[in-house]
Amino acid sequence: MQFNIESAEVFVPDGLAVEQALARTTHMAIAAHQDDIEIMAFDGIHKCFQREDRWFCGVVATDGSGAPRDSLYKDYTDDAMQAVRRKEQKKAAVVGEYGAQVLLNYPSRALKDGSNEAPVEDLTRLLRVTGPEIVYTHNLADKHDTHVAVALRVIEAIRRLPEVERPLRIYGCEVWRDLDWMVDADKVAFDLSAHESLQAALLGVFDSQICGGKRYDLATMGRRRAHATYHESHGTDVATGISFAMDLTPLIADPARSVQGYVEEFTTRFAQEVLARLARLQGEMQSPT
Ligand SMILES: [Zn+2]
Repeated sequence: MQFNIESAEVFVPDGLAVEQALARTTHMAIAAHQDDIEIMAFDGIHKCFQREDRWFCGVVATDGSGAPRDSLYKDYTDDAMQAVRRKEQKKAAVVGEYGAQVLLNYPSRALKDGSNEAPVEDLTRLLRVTGPEIVYTHNLADKHDTHVAVALRVIEAIRRLPEVERPLRIYGCEVWRDLDWMVDADKVAFDLSAHESLQAALLGVFDSQICGGKRYDLATMGRRRAHATYHESHGTDVATGISFAMDLTPLIADPARSVQGYVEEFTTRFAQEVLARLARLQGEMQSPT
């Protein structure tokens, strides 16, 4: 399969021919960086793990350049660091038994440059050959520009598909900003209680990022555990790990729908809930005269 960046590649852990490996996809995660998929889309990974009827395809949009580095990697050139990050992503694909791992290798700036159509072209072509039922990408309230840019590119690519070829659902997932702030009715909660050691293994292969000075592995498992405990204030913990997502499906069902307007509905419902509780309690707490 041809992509716009010459160094782009498709890695197939079990060695199946690329076309067949892509065509078996049922669940697909499209992320900005190496390690984002494992942080945000474990729901898809574990739903396909050890299955013959479901296959996970990971897509990383950037080339991994400009990553912070420390410890073992502190003297690595940018090229050497990119090679390490690609290798780590392939290790994750092996550990998680992905059907395929696509590395599109764009510099971040190309993804954020709206006049550059190449990323959307690549994604549209890829979506046509993979035909996923479920797509995971970044959420639109993430605070990393490249993450949001990738989510916008994914929405655009899906909107270009004929209606019958669009995925059934698309979820915006948590990396740089979690979604605990959304009102409960808006939260898509993925139960990630199963395969805790597999989750840890997938996060742990990204040694270059963790060595860069950030314990993404511990923080991600901690966030999942925190969500499970704090999701419901009454009753005992049913799940031991949860990740939240924003349902982006209405944006692909109606290509004319405003992305900003859609996200504003979530922030408005959040603001209304906070203010309504304050108003109610202040009313109730006024001492009777
Ligand atoms: Zn990222």
